[in-house]
Order: sequence, then structure tokens, then C-alpha cells
Amino acid sequence: MLHRLTANRLPGLLLTLLSIVLVILLSGCGGLLDRSSGDTEGGRVAEPGTTAGEQVAEDTSTSVQATTTTAPPDTTEPPTTAAPTTVPSRDLVAGEPREYVTVPTESPVVALTFDAAYDPAPLFQILATLKSTGVPATFFLTGEFVEDFPEATRSIIDAGHPIGSHSYSHPDFTELDSSAIRDQLRRTEELLASLGAADPRPLFRPPFGARNARVLQELANQGYVSVYWTIDTLDWKPERTPSQIRQTVLDKLQPGAIVLMHVGSRQTAEILSRLITDLKAEGYSFVALSEIKR
Ligand SMILES: [Zn+2]
Repeated sequence: MLHRLTANRLPGLLLTLLSIVLVILLSGCGGLLDRSSGDTEGGRVAEPGTTAGEQVAEDTSTSVQATTTTAPPDTTEPPTTAAPTTVPSRDLVAGEPREYVTVPTESPVVALTFDAAYDPAPLFQILATLKSTGVPATFFLTGEFVEDFPEATRSIIDAGHPIGSHSYSHPDFTELDSSAIRDQLRRTEELLASLGAADPRPLFRPPFGARNARVLQELANQGYVSVYWTIDTLDWKPERTPSQIRQTVLDKLQPGAIVLMHVGSRQTAEILSRLITDLKAEGYSFVALSEIKR
């Protein structure tokens, strides 16, 4: 928050930002936001086929990329388990739009993330696998999921995994005005608090991956950063096989990769243990996103 940005650091920060913008301009703005698929599990409002990539306004690309590449990270304690890793974190400036597409690190770490909007049944196997393997993960819950499945929500809380917001009812945020966005965020915060979960801020995953400059700014105003993904497993698709999900992750693996999966995916529940074994064999360890700070 602002108290961490003291006046005498401001010139340095501005210089850093300037140089980053320059680097981005010089190196071209390609890849970070490229993707061919979205978060479309949708729950009550699913519209499979929504393509997140088409919904990102062009004018967000520079600021979004800058936020994924700026500023040397701090080193902080790893979350929740004994995995010998550190997650770089940064002091976020209040009101500054920010998005993570990867965990900003060169180390071989991967962040497993699970979105939940409906069908908690596979969740319990997923949690059991995470526990038996000692792997932390990050969960993004809709308010409706919290309302409908309080026991499932409590089991995530009790397991100690950080929980971010996935909105209240999984709408496309680019189609909401500011007050509707705030309402979506607030209702989910209150529902999580009612079950004793920690404040989800700053972690927010946009439904369908849909966001633009205005949405990112409104999220920032409300204390959130957008957590996008590096690897989309498409595990919500009924026809995806467990081995396809596993292979997608292994093929696209990179340091700091954020992997998008869903608590409602039986295929993911089935393959998760094998996948974790594979990732460990590749030299990767696991991080939760709790170290991404406001
Ligand atoms: Zn979703």
C-alpha cells in the first residue's frame, strides 16, 4: 500500500517503470497475453466458447506486461508447506492496475490454481492429493460456490490453501459498470468472511479471463490484482482426458508458470497425483500465490 511507497522511493520507481516500458517497446509486445482459450467453466452462467483473448482491450497490454515484469522481487517465506521455494513478491502501489500471468521468478516453480464455480465433488480428491504430496495450491471461489457449498469451502480453508475471489456470480466483468463490479467483489468477500476465510484480496481471477483496462483499474481500486494464467489445461471440457491435461502442463511448463485447473474436473482429480510426481521429476517445486501482496 501507499505507506510502503515513501516519497524518496518515488523517483527510482518512476525510472524503473520508464525503463521497463522502454524495454517492452524495444522487445515487442508479443507473448505474455497470448492465449487461445479462456476460463469458461462458468457455473451457473457458463458460456463455453467464450474466448478470453478477444476480450482484452489492446490498450491494456503495455501496462499489464509492465506489471508482470517490473521491479526486483523481495524474497519471502514459502507458503503452507515444506516445499523449498520462495515466491518473489512486490510492494503493490494502491490503485495501480496489476496482473500476473506468471509468478515473477526464474526459479523452477509452478503455481497450481483451481477455480471453483460449481460441482465440488472432485475437490475432495484434489485436496487429499495436495495434502499427501505436500503441495500448496491457490483456489479461486465464486461467492455462489461459497453459498452453495460451505462444507467444500471450509475444507479448502482448513487445508490452509489461500483463497482468492472469482467474483460472486461469474459474470463477464467487461460488461459490468463499476458499482456492479464492486458488488461482485464485496459479496464474495463477505461470504468468505462468514466462513472464517482470510480476506481474498488481492487475489482475483477474472471470470472467463475477461478484463480490460477499465476492469483492471476498478480491481486495483478495490485492492485486487488480476491473476491470469500461463497454462490453461481446459480441464472443464468433458472430452478432455486426464493424460491430455497432464501433457498440456508438461509441454508448456516454464519457471513461474501459473496453471489453470478447476475443482469440478474429475479428470484433474484423477491425474493430479501423477502430474505432481512428473513436475517434481522435472525439478519443479510448488508455490501458492499468497505471497503476491497488495
Ligand atoms: Zn471461472
